[in-house]
Amino acid sequence: MELPVEEWRLCAARRWAALEPALRERLAAASLHDTLRLGCGLLRPEAEAPALRRLCRRARAGKEPAAARFYREEGNRSFGRRRYAAAARLYSQAASHELPGSPEVSVCFANRSAALFHLGHFEVCLEDIARAESHGYPDRLLPKVLLRKAECLLRLGRLQDAADALSVVENKIAVAGIMTGPAHQTLLKKLSQLKIKIQEKERCPEPARETRGDIQRKSEFWEENDSISGASSSLRLNFDTERGRHLVASQDILPGQSLLEEEAFVSVLCPGDGLLLQDSAETAWDTRVTNADLYCHRCLRQLLASVPCQGCSYAKYCSQSCADVAWEQYHRTECSLGALLLTLGVFCHVALRTVLLAGFAEVSRLVEWSHNGDRDLQDPEARCKDLSEAAETRAGTRGIPGCNDSGQYQSSYQAVFSLLPHTEKHSPEHKFLCMLSVVAICQQLQEAGLEAAVLNQESSERRSKPKTCEKTSGELSPEMKMMAEAMLRHVLQLQCNAQAITVMQESESGDGAVVNKKPVRLATAFFPVLSLLNHSCCPNTSVSFSGTTATVRASQPIPSGQEIFHCYGPHRCRMRVAERQQLLSQYFFDCRCRACRDELESDVKSVVSLRNTFCCPGCRAPMQGEDMLCCSNEACAISVSRESLSCRLRDLQQRIKRALELLRDRKADQAIKMLLKCQVDAECFLSPEHLLMGELEDHLAQVYATLGKWQEAARHLERSIEIVEMHHGPSSIEIGHELFKLAQILFNGFAVSEALSTIQRAEEILSVHCGPQSPQIQELQEMKTCLSELPRSILQRT
Ligand SMILES: [Zn+2]
Ligand SMILES: [Zn+2]
Ligand SMILES: [Zn+2]
Ligand SMILES: [Zn+2]
Repeated sequence: MELPVEEWRLCAARRWAALEPALRERLAAASLHDTLRLGCGLLRPEAEAPALRRLCRRARAGKEPAAARFYREEGNRSFGRRRYAAAARLYSQAASHELPGSPEVSVCFANRSAALFHLGHFEVCLEDIARAESHGYPDRLLPKVLLRKAECLLRLGRLQDAADALSVVENKIAVAGIMTGPAHQTLLKKLSQLKIKIQEKERCPEPARETRGDIQRKSEFWEENDSISGASSSLRLNFDTERGRHLVASQDILPGQSLLEEEAFVSVLCPGDGLLLQDSAETAWDTRVTNADLYCHRCLRQLLASVPCQGCSYAKYCSQSCADVAWEQYHRTECSLGALLLTLGVFCHVALRTVLLAGFAEVSRLVEWSHNGDRDLQDPEARCKDLSEAAETRAGTRGIPGCNDSGQYQSSYQAVFSLLPHTEKHSPEHKFLCMLSVVAICQQLQEAGLEAAVLNQESSERRSKPKTCEKTSGELSPEMKMMAEAMLRHVLQLQCNAQAITVMQESESGDGAVVNKKPVRLATAFFPVLSLLNHSCCPNTSVSFSGTTATVRASQPIPSGQEIFHCYGPHRCRMRVAERQQLLSQYFFDCRCRACRDELESDVKSVVSLRNTFCCPGCRAPMQGEDMLCCSNEACAISVSRESLSCRLRDLQQRIKRALELLRDRKADQAIKMLLKCQVDAECFLSPEHLLMGELEDHLAQVYATLGKWQEAARHLERSIEIVEMHHGPSSIEIGHELFKLAQILFNGFAVSEALSTIQRAEEILSVHCGPQSPQIQELQEMKTCLSELPRSILQRT
């Protein structure tokens, strides 16, 4: 998803292979500037360009009335089945395909307001009613919606507003004359009922409820670093040839202490593959949910009632103001390019948005600066040598790349620009693919007449200057070439510096009381300050996200002088050293972290190799060996190839997946049967500590929870926790998430004292990794309050 779709990659590879060898050689050795100068004519208008256009037809980014109809009808169906959350989402999808200002779009909003009402989101329901009214909702249907408005206001305790809304309905009905028919009878009945309710409430108003949680909410102590924006004062920016820029503890740091808080310089929501059709013949719409349906296109907040973009179907926002800001900053340029950006992948999209946010003036300043022989950008290695020598004589950060003249490192375009693109380390084919993709974007911007929007953004002097250069179609103007060069740089930088924004997302298992959450990649972003942290497979920090803000916390005590590490993905608890090193090769470095050294140099085995092992299908003793596995029990002497056991494992994973699909289709009994069968089979060839054994227990817990069998659920989850603990350690974030689930199960089963102690443990672990303000901690505290408010009779029973 980061890279362009496969067909385009192949197309670029064919073009590359067909180039003159001499040109290939020159491109392979070229600087970014020369790559563009040599290469921008290579996207041929008669070959590659139309091929790309054909691929773009598979992407769903525009507004299509047929899709709107489909989603509205699906929404009505879900509504009829009382699946209100699904209905609200489907009406949102319908709204995103309707033309703005059409009566149909107002119907989508009105229908969605009904679903939101049933979900108890009264404030948001009111917003949708207002939206329906402003988009020309048909007058004859209005009374029903206005009654809903009155009811919302009543539920929110705004009695005067509710009464006002009711009198508007009465007037409407009076103007329309005497009405007949059962629908109108219900309407009138509802009206009189509501009037009575309002009068009752006026007589005895409810005491205002305190909002829980707010009282305890206090901001974390935070002293900002003088030279690194967003970093704690207990860190120091260092530089040396071996490690490049890196952060070091300048004093002892405690677990849970917050070290860094940074807003992404740029982020792009990963759309999910639902928006790309696999086959161009495929036309059917489907109800799959993508990230674009769940999170705001700009701020990544979770969506309840999205505001669709007026021009496309893929950008949906949490609010009109988010939509307006996005439009102003970048979306007016991106809006019509949706299909192309989906086809070329998230990295290209991030690169485009980065230059749009920076503005042409800043982009051209830095691009020109990079040409004018500044060595830190041309030749970072040489610069490194100078700097480490300088660092010995003069403390301070002034000369470190990305720092401004006063030695401050900030989240700025300059800092993004100074991230290493590793131009010389990428394969020439890859550089060629990126260059061709970037040129395609710039050409489409020019063809769509958006060049002015791209270039004028922050440069008023250029706005007044009429275009002088006449150009043939397809050729990029010098200014656009400058933008393209910066974009190429960013695409290459992203391979090493892209930061995934992840959230804990509820899995789709429906409306069970226990929420099963798993981490999901939400967006790809540049965080120039976070990028200062080097990788370790056994990091001493945890990163968590809220919207587009990243927070880094110490996950263990860090003594003064120790380097601060962050894990880029390959963690020692999840992979063997060989797999980790393989994955890390994309960052162009060999990891020498403690875990890697231990596993490579001394014979220390990773957790994964110790625990995720096979056992003998005959006697269940551990199996030994590499390709051919032998039973460790000499009397048994069974031997099996690793391949055949791996095959069995894959088959098992497939069956588990099918069982979870059954659960999603609300066939819990069948799901349990299937999972129990999987468990029996797994015991025959997997070691009892195998992570999959834990996952099976976790799934079983989830199914029992959906059936309300809390004791069984808790028993299974406790076994899962034992295994997770063996793999990830007792204070890992993974254990935190498991304990959170256990707390919910015990809470629902009224196992009060066990619930309280589990909440306590979960809180301790999660607050270290995610901080005391995280939504999970808030939920735990609410559970605690709720348990302490239970009547004594229930407490004594347990
Ligand atoms: Zn938003
Ligand atoms: Zn749009
Ligand atoms: Zn490592
Ligand atoms: Zn055996």
